[in-house]
Amino acid sequence: MFVSDALGVNETGHLTIGGVDTLVLAAQYGTPLYLMDEDEIRANCKAFKRGIDEYYEGKGQVAFASKAFCCKEMCRIADSEGLWLDVVSGGEMHTALAAGFPAERILFHGNNKSSVELTMALESGVGRIVVDNIFELELLSSLAIAAGKRAKVQLRLKPGVEAHTHDFIRTGQIDSKFGFAIETGEAMEAVKSALALPGLDLVGVHCHIGSQIFEVSAFEEAARVMIGFVTQIKREFGHEIQELNLGGGFGIKYLPGETPAPYHSYMEAVSKVLRDCCAREGIPLPIIILEPGRSIVGPAGITLYTIGGVKEIPNIRTYISVDGGMTDNPRHILYQSRYEMLLAGRPNDPKTGGYTVAGRCCESGDILGVDIPLPTPKVGEVLAVLSTGAYNYAMASHYNRLPKPAVVMVKDGQSRVVVKRENYDDLCKNDV
Ligand SMILES: *Cc1c(COP(=O)(O)O)cnc(C)c1O
Repeated sequence: MFVSDALGVNETGHLTIGGVDTLVLAAQYGTPLYLMDEDEIRANCKAFKRGIDEYYEGKGQVAFASKAFCCKEMCRIADSEGLWLDVVSGGEMHTALAAGFPAERILFHGNNKSSVELTMALESGVGRIVVDNIFELELLSSLAIAAGKRAKVQLRLKPGVEAHTHDFIRTGQIDSKFGFAIETGEAMEAVKSALALPGLDLVGVHCHIGSQIFEVSAFEEAARVMIGFVTQIKREFGHEIQELNLGGGFGIKYLPGETPAPYHSYMEAVSKVLRDCCAREGIPLPIIILEPGRSIVGPAGITLYTIGGVKEIPNIRTYISVDGGMTDNPRHILYQSRYEMLLAGRPNDPKTGGYTVAGRCCESGDILGVDIPLPTPKVGEVLAVLSTGAYNYAMASHYNRLPKPAVVMVKDGQSRVVVKRENYDDLCKNDV
């Protein structure tokens, strides 16, 4: 009925998440509030694993891209589902290690990792370092030697695949800050260096073509280019690439009527491309790695706000002001992202008009959505914004010194805080 399976309506007509009344949660924990349904997160983890089991003989791993939603509890959930974990900074790495996530299942990404971060990864035994550029390759080699370690490396490549998504979240083409381009020969040069430099084991190649992608064909095309490159490496250097990391980017449903492909269908399609190519070239099937972020946590989350004002500008628009905004969800102002919204106390009431939902920050652009269909809202009602589990808490800021909301996890009719709400002292704790 709603964009996410985690949501429902109870006998009092209120919106529920994981079977728990959202108005009860709003009263108990306050607003703004992030809510996450643990069963939905776990079901999504399992769906990706099942795709690999069913279509690729289980020869693969699913790595949760923790940047989509990074906190200790999420790392523990990913661990208990047997996932690997992507991190893109020392901070994410620290969070994972502090949560007890096994270092050997962590992949370290990023286009500008510092020596300190690379050393931290080497010292703590992080499983893979996905190298972005030649400077980093050389730096990592020297740091590995200094630390007396060997680094297992995947190279980040640009397969030159265009996915139809927003410019800011498209990464597979030559004009991207990420990785080595295959078309220009840069990637093969990087392979040569990786094989020659001491302290490095080149185990894999990686690509990530963008985010919120709906077309299975974009992933097929990327897989075709990447496996082609793997065979070329074999031919030129006799070196076998064991791991093919195809990244994340699987689209989710933000609005009613959107129809992202079911998660297993990516593996179904990609697996055929890889099998055909490997059979033709007589090379073994590489281990595949998928890195879903948004699709694991996005549909599992919602955000609750309290409506503090309804301002009608005759013949223009009606603004609804809520007690959060771009600080807890900057995605609308960044990407013009659109969301389904509901009044949590009466999600099934007929919609009476289009409303513009404004945040409370001192920016005219602080908008969560334009022309959102809703029943006539009243001050004091709770507004639910759906599909906010990915890149919302993760992108939250302290603009206007707004404390970050709590994150509450719901499971089996119970709720628990997994990230505490910040208070004013938290905001000042590093002020001198
Ligand atoms: C962001 C990112 C992901 C996850 O992307 P989603 O769109 O959230 O699935 C995976 N891999 C890499 C390298 C990324 O940068």
